[in-house]
Amino acid sequence: MLRVIISTIFLLVSTTLFAQDADSLATEQIDTLKTESAVNHRVAPVRTLGVVSVIDTLPTPSEQISIVLFNDNTWRYVLAEGFRNDTTVFDNHWDTSATQAYAGVDINSFPDATPIQLVDSLRSYHYPYIGRITSRYGPRRGRAHHGMDISLKVGDPIYAVFDGKVRLSKAAGNYGNLVIIRHNNGLETYYAHLSERSVQPGEWVVAGQQIGLGGNTGRSTGPHLHFEVRYRGQSFDPERIIDFKTGELRREELLLKRRHFSIYAKFEQDFDEEVEIEKIEEAERKAAQAIQYHTVRSGDTLGALARKYGTTVTRICQLNNIKSTSILRIGQRLRVR
Ligand SMILES: [Zn+2]
Repeated sequence: MLRVIISTIFLLVSTTLFAQDADSLATEQIDTLKTESAVNHRVAPVRTLGVVSVIDTLPTPSEQISIVLFNDNTWRYVLAEGFRNDTTVFDNHWDTSATQAYAGVDINSFPDATPIQLVDSLRSYHYPYIGRITSRYGPRRGRAHHGMDISLKVGDPIYAVFDGKVRLSKAAGNYGNLVIIRHNNGLETYYAHLSERSVQPGEWVVAGQQIGLGGNTGRSTGPHLHFEVRYRGQSFDPERIIDFKTGELRREELLLKRRHFSIYAKFEQDFDEEVEIEKIEEAERKAAQAIQYHTVRSGDTLGALARKYGTTVTRICQLNNIKSTSILRIGQRLRVR
C-alpha cells in the first residue's frame, strides 16, 4: 500500500534526471554551460533531517530514482543505487583512513576547466551551517587556510551539503573530529572540529542530513565549523558554490577552472569576472541572433531595403562597407541589420 501511495506521489512530481557521464562529455558540457549560463539558478536548501538511518528503499516508475525511507518517518528521492555507482568516483582513491585520498594526483593533469553539476533535478542541497563567518578561504598568517570558518555553539547540528557517501569519519589531528563526504559529482566536503560525529565511512547520506555536532576539537581556538570543498584533493573557495549569508547554492552548475585551486584565488574576483563575461556573451548571442541578411532581387534599391527592414541607407552602407551610390547586383547578399 505504501509503495502504491509513494508511486502515486512520484507520478505527480515530474522529474527529469541529468544523466552524468565522465570526462568524455566535458567539452560538450562546457559548451552547454556557456549557452545555458543565463539559466543557472540559485538553489534553496532542502528540508533538514536529524540523525537518521535508512529503513527501506523503494523503487519508483523511474529506474534512476529510488525513495529512501528513514527511521524518523521521513523520506527522500535519491539517485537509485545503480546510478549512484554509475561513476568511478567512489571506487578510485577511496580511502577511509587518510584525510588526503588523492595524494600523488598531479594538478597539472587536470583540464583547464571541469564542469561540475552541483545539483540534478532532485535539487538535493543544504548548507553545512549558517553563522558568523570568522575566517575565509585564502592565505592566513603565512599559512594556507583551505576552508571557511563559521562560528557556532558546541552541539549545533551540522548538515551534509549534497547527497553522497561518507569517506572518512574520525579524529584527525588539527582537524579534530572530521567527517569527509564524497559526492557523485566528484567533490568532497570536509566538516571539521566537530564535538560529535554521527556517520560512519561507507554510509550513504543525503543533503540536509545531520552528520554531527559543531565543536572545538583539534587545532581550534573557539567553537567553529571549518568547512572545505575539494575536487580530487585540491581545495577551492567554498563561497564559489555556497552563499553563506542566505544559505543558498549560488548555481546549479560550476565550471571549475584549474586556476581556482590556487589559495590566492578568491571567489569574488573570478565570480564578478564570470558574471561580467556571461553578460557580454549573452549580449553577443543576442546581437548574433539579430543579424539579418537580404539577397538582392531585381528592382531592389537601398532606400527600399532600408524602409523594408526599418533601418537607414547609411546604416546598411556601414554594415556592408559600401557607398550609397553603389550599384546593387542581383543575388548580392547584404547585411541589413
Ligand atoms: Zn578553518
